[in-house]
Amino acid sequence: MLKRSVLSDDVVQQALSVMSAKHRVAQFPRLLEEHFHASFFRDQLSLVRRYLLLGALVFLCYLVSDFLRIPELFEYAVVLRVSFFCLFLFFLWLVRKPKFKPLFYYLAALSGVAANGVVVELGRQATLLENYHYQSGTPIVIMAICTFFKLPFKYVLVAVLLMLANYVFVVGQMGLMPDVILINNYAVFLGISVIGLIAAFQLEQDRRMNFVHRLVLGDERENLQQAKVALEQLTKIDPLTSIHNRLYFEEQLDLEWTYCANNEIPITLMMIDVDHFKSVNDNYGHQVGDQVIRVVAETLEKQVRRSGDFVARYGGEEFVLVCPSMPVDVAAVMAESVRKAIQGLVFEHNSSLVLTASVGAATAIPDSSISRNQLVKRADEALYHGKEQGRNRSILWTGQDGFADQQLSLL
Ligand code: GH3
Ligand code: MG
Ligand code: MG
Repeated sequence: MLKRSVLSDDVVQQALSVMSAKHRVAQFPRLLEEHFHASFFRDQLSLVRRYLLLGALVFLCYLVSDFLRIPELFEYAVVLRVSFFCLFLFFLWLVRKPKFKPLFYYLAALSGVAANGVVVELGRQATLLENYHYQSGTPIVIMAICTFFKLPFKYVLVAVLLMLANYVFVVGQMGLMPDVILINNYAVFLGISVIGLIAAFQLEQDRRMNFVHRLVLGDERENLQQAKVALEQLTKIDPLTSIHNRLYFEEQLDLEWTYCANNEIPITLMMIDVDHFKSVNDNYGHQVGDQVIRVVAETLEKQVRRSGDFVARYGGEEFVLVCPSMPVDVAAVMAESVRKAIQGLVFEHNSSLVLTASVGAATAIPDSSISRNQLVKRADEALYHGKEQGRNRSILWTGQDGFADQQLSLL
């Protein structure tokens, strides 16, 4: 499937307009045409090369026919067929780079003309008159070039016209066969050429439509994938504050917890709850309450400076801060810094509004003695310990059942 990363929007637009067009087109707009050939060359080259090789082998197998029908020319036939085969193999292995694409197609198409030339030459040199039937190998070559080798139509057209011209202007002038047979052969070869060319044209049309469908389908898949990722991200964003929500918190904590467990390093988790927030709503209204929640979220985001740390809205006026690889002494400083940042907020339009928050922090090195949920519970307990102690404080869980009131310890 074609990836969007390698496609410009213009190419996709061109593909869409080709798809919605009433009539099929023999040639795409420039950009799309370039992509079509590049893609065909990339995806089909090995297949075309295998078919061409098979065709050359079949051509070589006709030595059996030479041996039985024109034994007097067998050595000559070996020289012609083997040298043609070797030459063919040579250019086939040589022309593999995309920049040789047109050369490859021309040579592949002209190989048909050359093969036809060999057949004609053998028929011409044959001593027995009825060996002019050797010319009847031409339709096989025409059909191989038209269908089997999957070459682009314009190269097929050149090859077929050359083969027909060869038959009419070279073989026809040699006087190898009675006129009635010659005219019959003209009619048969012409008919085969027309059928072959129509088939080649239709095959290319199908290849083109197939390419356009794959391209559009790939682009739609890519768009859907992007929409899915964007939607998933949206489900982890809190609509009021635009910071991460609880779902993100749960998922991310899980990852960070595992990371810290594997590296045997501490992880700190803080619960932050605005004090007496209900009275903010009651005194200033819910809109101001919402605005306050947004400002607190912004303030907390600014506190997050280390990569890996993150803040999320836990619910209501409660937030959570996760700091992987943060030891308890740093956590104590950070918790106080968070508390002070909220205490220092000034609300220009509601200057009488004074905000404080309580912070509960817990630090642990994840191991079998503590689970992820237990750490959350410890931070929550520390927070409510702070509320009980009179609010506007940062409390650390110090292990077992103990808590450290930082403000009290400072006093
Ligand atoms: P405490 O100091 O014990 O934390 O008291 P509190 O008033 O902050 O806590 P409480 O749980 O009693 O009240 C929280 C209030 O937060 C109640 C609820 O209406 C309000 N709240 C929750 N979510 C939102 C929100 O999105 N917007 C607004 N404006 N208010 C909210
Ligand atoms: Mg509160
Ligand atoms: Mg609360």
